[in-house]
Amino acid sequence: MLTTHDLANQPLSLTVSDDHHHGVETVTVCAGAQGAVTMTCSCRQYIAQNWCRHLVDLACMRLRDCGITDPDIDARFEEIVAGTALEIAGNDADHRLAMVAHHAGRVDQARAGGPSRDAMESLALAARDLAEAAEAASDALRRFTRRAAGAID
Ligand SMILES: [Zn+2]
Repeated sequence: MLTTHDLANQPLSLTVSDDHHHGVETVTVCAGAQGAVTMTCSCRQYIAQNWCRHLVDLACMRLRDCGITDPDIDARFEEIVAGTALEIAGNDADHRLAMVAHHAGRVDQARAGGPSRDAMESLALAARDLAEAAEAASDALRRFTRRAAGAID
């Protein structure tokens, strides 16, 4: 017979969907030792890069956005992921990616202003901020990818 502890260590499969790709993917989450959590996805982005938007959204507990409405699945997922380093890394990656999008928007806006001196100054500032944000996002994604692979340090 399975104990509660054994059950917690059973991999949890989630069927995720999103508005953008109209596809359905399978995410597998598994609790390891010392708070380690492994999370994989069947989508192309994950296969190519070992992380994907689904995993970041799930680590940020946006289960409903991923099409998960079953409260039992929701509760089991939260039990495995809440309070872990993976959750923290997911929130950080999410925030860094949002900053990249924000500064990229500023770059677009400055370029749309036409080639004036003011526009070039704005563009230079926004591009510097974008470069910094992109580096930080790259680092955050590297950390998130390691966490999702089950690393704990
Ligand atoms: Zn995915």
